[in-house]
Amino acid sequence: MEGFFAAWLFVTGLVVGSFLNVVIARVPEGLSIVRPRSRCPKCGHVIAWYENIPVVSWLALRARCSGCGTPISARYPMVEVLTGLLYFACLRRFGWTYELVPALVLVTLLVPLTFIDLDHWILPFSLTLPGIAAGVLLAIPRGGDALLAAVIGAAGGFLAFRLMEYVGWKVFKKEALGAGDKYLVAMLGAFLSWHALLGILFLASLQGAVVGSLMLALTGRAGPASDAPGDSETPEPTDVAVDPEPTMTWDFTRSGLPLWKRLLLFPVCLLFQPIPDAPLDEEGEEEEWVPGPTNIPFGPWLALAGLEVMLLGPWLGSVLPSNMALLLGAG
Ligand SMILES: [Zn+2]
Repeated sequence: MEGFFAAWLFVTGLVVGSFLNVVIARVPEGLSIVRPRSRCPKCGHVIAWYENIPVVSWLALRARCSGCGTPISARYPMVEVLTGLLYFACLRRFGWTYELVPALVLVTLLVPLTFIDLDHWILPFSLTLPGIAAGVLLAIPRGGDALLAAVIGAAGGFLAFRLMEYVGWKVFKKEALGAGDKYLVAMLGAFLSWHALLGILFLASLQGAVVGSLMLALTGRAGPASDAPGDSETPEPTDVAVDPEPTMTWDFTRSGLPLWKRLLLFPVCLLFQPIPDAPLDEEGEEEEWVPGPTNIPFGPWLALAGLEVMLLGPWLGSVLPSNMALLLGAG
């Protein structure tokens, strides 16, 4: 019986993964995820229900559209299997307890966020903001302390990344972090509490740096190229840091205010001072940001680290030296 329910959860993961493929394709384009029915992008052939069975249909169709024979990417069944396996891993970690619920919700958010960030270098608010709310709300049944830890996790994660963004802009005169990363960190902090944040940041940076360096050495790029229109035409990414001074600063630190007022207002300034996503060109329109060869999207690494801390936390605590485990919040 145990095995039957585990298999059922895995299959549920496959079906959810099939839906997440739709989310990954449509949310960045601002399209509805409910209507219309999925079609072949090449010939417009409407995908029948029996052609939409996770993994099975992809294999039965031999990875081709039944209308025109256009190859169907192996990423569709991959996302389905990945979601199924992660659902199964959550069950192994938490069993049929309440903790399984927030774990499954987090997986269901992290899978599309990861692939959208890989494809488009964005983390849509339509996923991260409801995600933060869900993380906090799902902490309520755990009791007051856990709810507080979730709220501190969300606020602390956001503020820490906001601070790094600010420092990156001031010191390196460029955008060091994607603007959406702080919302993803806030979401992870809400689901996994502030205890997990340091470990997540450590694992994400370490793994991102190692894999990014390897990819840079092997392929000449640390991250995926963007699909932004004009990416292929523009031979060289235009110098992103053309104008190091943000055009729309609201800078208390340099205004004529007395020092004590500036110090008092500094936290406010951190939170609300706008950091432009891209420098404005002569027409005053934002230039399309094009990822350079050394840029890596941080979202997928944050997502991976969050899953590692959630699913492997106790195991990490048992294999790592105790001071290290404490740092990772697994002690
Ligand atoms: Zn087709």
